[in-house]
Amino acid sequence: MYNINSIRNDFPILHQKIHNHDLVYFDNAATTQKPQQVIDAIVHSYTKTNSNIHRGIHTLSQLSTNMYEKARKQVQQFIHAPKSEEIIFTKGVTESINLIAHSFGEAFIKAGDEIIISAMEHHSNMVPWHMLCERKQATLRFIPFNSDGVLDIEAFKNSISEKTKLVSIVHISNSLGTVNPISEIIEIAHSHGIPVCIDGAQSIQHTPIDVQALDCDFFVFSGHKMYAPTGIGVLWGKESWLEKMPPYQGGGDMIETVTLEKITYNTLPFKFEAGTSNYVGAHALGVAIDYIQHIGIQHIETHEHSLMEYATSKLQNIEGLSIIGNAPKKAGAISFKVQGAHPADIGQILDKKGIAIRTGTHCTEPVMQFFNIPGTARMSFGMYNTISEIDYCCDVLNKVTRMFL
Ligand code: PMP
Repeated sequence: MYNINSIRNDFPILHQKIHNHDLVYFDNAATTQKPQQVIDAIVHSYTKTNSNIHRGIHTLSQLSTNMYEKARKQVQQFIHAPKSEEIIFTKGVTESINLIAHSFGEAFIKAGDEIIISAMEHHSNMVPWHMLCERKQATLRFIPFNSDGVLDIEAFKNSISEKTKLVSIVHISNSLGTVNPISEIIEIAHSHGIPVCIDGAQSIQHTPIDVQALDCDFFVFSGHKMYAPTGIGVLWGKESWLEKMPPYQGGGDMIETVTLEKITYNTLPFKFEAGTSNYVGAHALGVAIDYIQHIGIQHIETHEHSLMEYATSKLQNIEGLSIIGNAPKKAGAISFKVQGAHPADIGQILDKKGIAIRTGTHCTEPVMQFFNIPGTARMSFGMYNTISEIDYCCDVLNKVTRMFL
């Protein structure tokens, strides 16, 4: 049984009034709220175990190190990675992709090569590749999408050549909600010997991930979008790639030995974790994973799917409102526009009613350019959202849209 009341009770932030209305938090694609268990884990770390990891022989340092390494194993198990050494802790998706763009780019990209991404990528999965291509005089190619927000797989096939060195694709679009056919994309790319990176920022919290079943080469995600704190994220990569990639940043922990003449690098995963890691965040990420697993990611997926279906049909019936992105398979987020209104106006009016949605380009400016709009209003769901919150939001939207007709 999916006990929504007990789940909601675990999230203290939800139980407050905003402008004298019960908070309705529909901005989960930007960041999720944290359950008390995660908040307690952070407090516990700083009140009982805090000490820098990997370098101390005293008790607290060992405790702290064990908690950090336990979290790595939890992540490994959560995404079904073959080895915990393949789990690199980062700040989040942005840092993970910059790391790959830098290190994979150093090792494998040369002038004339090509990288393929899609035109619906978050800027985090676009700008680092642009920068790499500029540095290396390589070319960035884009898989187009249609007006429903569906990728053109034939165009993808046609854009592949012997120059293609990497494909990097968002699993679920943060602005359109499209669930991309990543298994098919990975299979096509692999049939040409091309590795694939998956941006899982909007999928890790909504659907089970098995990197071995997917057979992708890299999978990245952020803790803060899966009920864990900000400042912690993950890069998973196949050992065979990570071993061949040079370090991203230099500093403590990523070295084996340092002399004034020569530096040798540490083994995986430490080679990619320079400096003091966010070990408190990693531990709290492990607790967030426990929390998700306790509820069951499949149950969360089913619950959120019903929210998506319900909200879609209700929004479709609001005069003057149109949904942007109508892919047959969607998850997490619904973008829409209101005739005659700027998205920011919608966001402001909803805020006065206690409803938090996000408005703007959602860091996907090319998507907005494609639809020729300044931005969208976006509702995005988490495990604690309810049908009655959608009813309330749609009632408000019904009145709002009439104001602009
Ligand atoms: N990719 C996608 C699809 C996203 O939704 C986001 C966050 N909005 C990111 C990348 C970047 O994540 P972060 O800011 O946590 O690094």
